[in-house]
Amino acid sequence: MANLPAIQRFESSTKVRIYRIPCEVFPNFVGYVYVVLGAGEPTLIDTGSGYGDSTKHIVEGIESLRNDFGESVTREDFRRILITHGHIDHFGGLAHLPKNSRARIGIHTLDRRVITNYEERVAVTNRLLRFFIQQAGVPEAMQDQLIQYYNFSKKHTQSFPVDFPLTDGQEMDGMRFIHVPGHCPGMVCIAIGNVLISADHILEKTSPHQSPETITRHTGLHHYLESLEKVSRMGGFDVALGGHEGPIHNVYQRISEIRQGHMRKLDRVRGFLGKSDEGLSNYDVAKLMFPEAKDFHLLLALEEAAAHVEYLYEHGELAVTNLDEVENEAIPSLKYRLIN
Ligand SMILES: [Zn+2]
Ligand SMILES: [Zn+2]
Repeated sequence: MANLPAIQRFESSTKVRIYRIPCEVFPNFVGYVYVVLGAGEPTLIDTGSGYGDSTKHIVEGIESLRNDFGESVTREDFRRILITHGHIDHFGGLAHLPKNSRARIGIHTLDRRVITNYEERVAVTNRLLRFFIQQAGVPEAMQDQLIQYYNFSKKHTQSFPVDFPLTDGQEMDGMRFIHVPGHCPGMVCIAIGNVLISADHILEKTSPHQSPETITRHTGLHHYLESLEKVSRMGGFDVALGGHEGPIHNVYQRISEIRQGHMRKLDRVRGFLGKSDEGLSNYDVAKLMFPEAKDFHLLLALEEAAAHVEYLYEHGELAVTNLDEVENEAIPSLKYRLIN
């Protein structure tokens, strides 16, 4: 990528300086890490992916705080690294950032093992994902390919020790952690005065990706919608800074747009499942919802569709239509229809 967005400086109502540093986490996919100054020790929030030039962009970004913004901080000064959630584009850089033995690392307990036992996590998730893909009714010839999309980029990082947990409601030097499970089990937003580091919980343009709890506990649309509600009940945020895309200046309106988007998706899924007597698998629903999705995006589409089907099933709106197969086959694909 030739041009990254510019570094942006924000100042919270509590006089904390927050710098937003872009890095290319995957080819043509930009993520943001945040440098927080004036809230206790110099703090880095997230670390990029460690892939390609991601770490280089962060190191250069920190250097530019001295050259272009008059800050005195150097990369050796960071004493604290907070990881907003256990997705590789946010923590993968941990193993690649220049070693600084004084930096202590914090993440929510529900995502801790993703970092401390990374290899185990990838192996176990592969297994659960395979089961999910089989149950979702994906044609057999495509199953291995979808698993490989999940494994793309998983090999360039490794387990890393974690020093302390980020817990819901905890205050730390003017930062407050808000646990918002849904997009990821241990997803945490960080409130600094009137600024919300919203990470991947609230994004400016994209509705954050959802996947079903059958793959990973504490994800799923039900948790996500509750977590959106949790933030919307907290007044006082004038800007939200996401892990991707632009700053969000209308935080509460954006929350309600994302919520409305899911309500529309749920209605579409009800529409598809209401028309089919023999029932539809998650894969069938994904193809109807996202007919254009291919390759890696097909895996994302399948997870997103399944999260919505799971939500309706959990809320008593669906029935399984192929109980014979479910009872008799080793790994049956479940088919659903709307209960009228
Ligand atoms: Zn994420
Ligand atoms: Zn992300």
